[in-house]
Amino acid sequence: MIAEIKTLTAYKNCEKTLQNAIPCVGIGLHGGQKVRMTLKPAPVGHGIVFKRVDVTDKDNLVPVSYETVVDTRMCTCVGNKDGVTVGTIEHLMAALAGFGITNILIELNGAEVPVMDGSAMDFVTLIECAGIVKQDAPLKAVKILKDVSFEDENGAGVCLYPSEKDLSIDFMIDFKQSRVIGRQEYSIVLTERTFKDSVAYARTFGFAQEVEMLRAMGLGRGGSLDNVVVVEGDMVLNKEGLRSENEFVVHKTLDAVGDLYQLGMPIIGCFSGVKSGHMHTNALLRKLMADKSAYEIVNADDYEESLFQSRKASA
Ligand SMILES: [Zn+2]
Repeated sequence: MIAEIKTLTAYKNCEKTLQNAIPCVGIGLHGGQKVRMTLKPAPVGHGIVFKRVDVTDKDNLVPVSYETVVDTRMCTCVGNKDGVTVGTIEHLMAALAGFGITNILIELNGAEVPVMDGSAMDFVTLIECAGIVKQDAPLKAVKILKDVSFEDENGAGVCLYPSEKDLSIDFMIDFKQSRVIGRQEYSIVLTERTFKDSVAYARTFGFAQEVEMLRAMGLGRGGSLDNVVVVEGDMVLNKEGLRSENEFVVHKTLDAVGDLYQLGMPIIGCFSGVKSGHMHTNALLRKLMADKSAYEIVNADDYEESLFQSRKASA
């Protein structure tokens, strides 16, 4: 399989895959089961596809797309026509977005991506160990042409709007029930460097009083202080404390990076999230893609070229 993958650097911005396959083992956050996952190289045009190797009597391939998202209540879950699903994909998706991996086969022997430490750090390490190769195809990007937004009845919302830069993200959260979280804002221009250094470390979080409720729903069974920042009142229950004061809003940014990558290619534009979650981001992508006047698919190389020329002209 690896031999089939042609590598070339004719394009400045190319599709990318892994150099080698790499396995890991962890537990599912919601199911609590042990899962073995192997990240594998894939050819140009393949996209991001999960393969449930434990499923043999149905179609076990689940491609990732904004259209294959079937559940966004507690995590982002994708599924195929046979009802085969893969849950908690968002932190792995964020790491793939961070490195610009466009083609990958992710084999799993369970229904959930392992949660690891609740952040994207282990996925970053796995991808770096596997190595990244450029492929012989130009990278496509979704360029935002006009404002598109989605808001719910509680005032939580998301928006994408045009910008001449790489994807930039603004996020705001406001948890009045806990002073340890409170109101936090975060902004970042997404690049491989900024993702790895400033976003990947942030862990998922939850409230102690939610744990019993989630378990009654059959969710959160794998959650523990090893992989979730647990907040009770104004306190963080994890002995080691927070990795940064604003770890909460940085994690929400990480989730947004992962969820936006359901498009399978980078976005040229700005994203803004206010108290939003997985459902909002997916609804926004569906709305964006349903309006052909709101975006165009551009060649990332051509785009950089024209940007360079317009900068020269205005200088
Ligand atoms: Zn998350």
